[in-house]
Amino acid sequence: MSAGPKSRELYRRACELMPAGVSSPVRAFGSVGGGPLFYASGGGCHFTDVDGRRFIDYVGSWGPLILGHAHPEVVEAVTMAARKGLSYGAPCEHEIELAELMIGAVPHLEMVRFVSSGTEAVMSAIRLARGVTGRDDIVKFTGCYHGHADHMLVAAGSGLATFGTPSSAGVPASFAEHTIVLPLDDETALERIFSERGSSIAAVIIEGIPANSGLLVQRDELLHRLRGLCDEHGALLILDEVITGFRIGPGGAAARYGVVPDLATYGKVIGGGMPVGAYGGRRDLMQQLAPLGPVYQAGTLSGNPVAMAAGAATLRHLLADGGAAYARLEELGSRLQEGIERVFDEAGTSWSVARAGSILWMSLQEGETPRRFEDIRPEAAGIYARLHGALLERGVYLAPSAYEVAFVSLAHDEDVIDDTIKAFGEAVREISTG
Ligand SMILES: *Cc1c(COP(=O)(O)O)cnc(C)c1O
Repeated sequence: MSAGPKSRELYRRACELMPAGVSSPVRAFGSVGGGPLFYASGGGCHFTDVDGRRFIDYVGSWGPLILGHAHPEVVEAVTMAARKGLSYGAPCEHEIELAELMIGAVPHLEMVRFVSSGTEAVMSAIRLARGVTGRDDIVKFTGCYHGHADHMLVAAGSGLATFGTPSSAGVPASFAEHTIVLPLDDETALERIFSERGSSIAAVIIEGIPANSGLLVQRDELLHRLRGLCDEHGALLILDEVITGFRIGPGGAAARYGVVPDLATYGKVIGGGMPVGAYGGRRDLMQQLAPLGPVYQAGTLSGNPVAMAAGAATLRHLLADGGAAYARLEELGSRLQEGIERVFDEAGTSWSVARAGSILWMSLQEGETPRRFEDIRPEAAGIYARLHGALLERGVYLAPSAYEVAFVSLAHDEDVIDDTIKAFGEAVREISTG
């Protein structure tokens, strides 16, 4: 299904004014076709487009909306804060509230600093790692996305994978030289790079659970080996929890693997839909930041009171009742996973659904669910595009790219999940009969 007449008209106007009419590339629907839907409003697990059609939303603003659209507690917190001023550029109590919630939930977070996006969080954590180790090299993994800072735009995921651009124009080769890229799920490659260049590696950065090029769930052993190698060679381990932080559980991916990073980066869920990022970890490292130490990082809108209030309201809700929210998300996520897998089985495919809590991804290819970017077959994107269109027609909105994951929120319920599974059944039948 393509976008409705009003969306099409708005998109025509937008394209005159903004490159591809969007503020972030994947939103343009380039890889699934049909043009983007313009949102008119969102509520709970639904949104309505400008043509008046209502969809079940599995994008959730790409991860932040774990409580659903316009959750009353978050809206109330934002409204209250906004009445008292939109930005101070000075310390405020909302920052302390959000910091206390994060630090209280994550044992290895001893201090945090707030920024305004996940990109900034990663960029700053890497500068800090380089500053404290006095080394320049950073190791990252193929398919992991860490935001769009220059030195991270090397073999990154999602939008970049879809557009087939391994990297970006405008990144000097001399920057990329310091970024070493390894395949996921491969301890041998890790060991080799550490034995060759261990003394020049400032940090290894890895997504908590890589979720920007499919959902590439890693084995615990990989993370443990990584921790061991970083310790042996004096490199820092940065866990990028921008998606996984407060999404898969209060302790994020670190708790799931039982691995303690030196630094961790956050975004998405911790802002509850507002522009927030954070990085944090060991106190001795964080104290190297200006004005205490020599590593500079700053931000006009950092610690913005309205954004901090949204984040704090979100985390307060998630952390109430001993983490009941996460048990609920697990329940909903597994119901959806099982339902879609049943549909895939009944259609005679061996497609599968990878899942980590409320994060799901469909592997539309035969064989095992991939753990490495290199194992995702590009043909799957064609199947995904057709499935995406057939689901839109039935009121189910998935991300407009085969490499993006789906997010379930606490606003979804059994009925909505079952409606989604029914739509999947029809959509898969439709696309397999041509
Ligand atoms: C989204 C994301 C980022 C970048 O965050 P922005 O807020 O989009 O800048 C970084 N790392 C990971 C793992 C992400 O998913």
